[in-house]
Amino acid sequence: MPQSQPKFVILDRDGVVNLDSDHFIKTPDEWVPITGSLEAIATLNQAGYRVVIASNQSGIGRGLFEMSALNAMHEKMYKALANLGGRVEAVFFCPHTAADNCDCRKPKPGLFEQIGERFGVELRAVPVVGDSLRDLEAGVAVGCIPHLVRTGKGAKTLAKGGLPAGTRVHDDLAAFAQWLIAGDHAHKSPAP
Ligand SMILES: [Mg+2]
Ligand SMILES: [Zn+2]
Repeated sequence: MPQSQPKFVILDRDGVVNLDSDHFIKTPDEWVPITGSLEAIATLNQAGYRVVIASNQSGIGRGLFEMSALNAMHEKMYKALANLGGRVEAVFFCPHTAADNCDCRKPKPGLFEQIGERFGVELRAVPVVGDSLRDLEAGVAVGCIPHLVRTGKGAKTLAKGGLPAGTRVHDDLAAFAQWLIAGDHAHKSPAP
């Protein structure tokens, strides 16, 4: 594999990085990382991956919380990550509701297109990790490889079926990170 292009991983946020809630995550206090998820991001970073988040945040469009609250949640995440030597490059989010009919609300691929433009990367074969079908559909629309985690809504999503072809299932983000990095080693190490 050519190493000219930096390696990227694109993550959904709620239900992948932090615990999800049917009542929306509205404050920094409600933003609680899933056990091992921040460590997993740090592990990905150490293996040379740049991690970007793509997240639907319709709670803004619904008036449930302000941009300032979203920024405060992400400050909490960045600080907690920094303590572990980890880093998320950026959080791309859609603030709209379904009624807005925007181009960025997943399963539409607008957030992914924004990521590709911002970092000047081709997203083909970049892993996308989500707990909902729409996360995977948005990624697959731009050529990403779909990975479902069982955390958040993941177990329900898996039970419903209809996942994009080639979707791999992992217990959580930590299991995904281990799997991805083990694959890197398998490709790079000469056969015994
Ligand atoms: Mg989610
Ligand atoms: Zn949008």
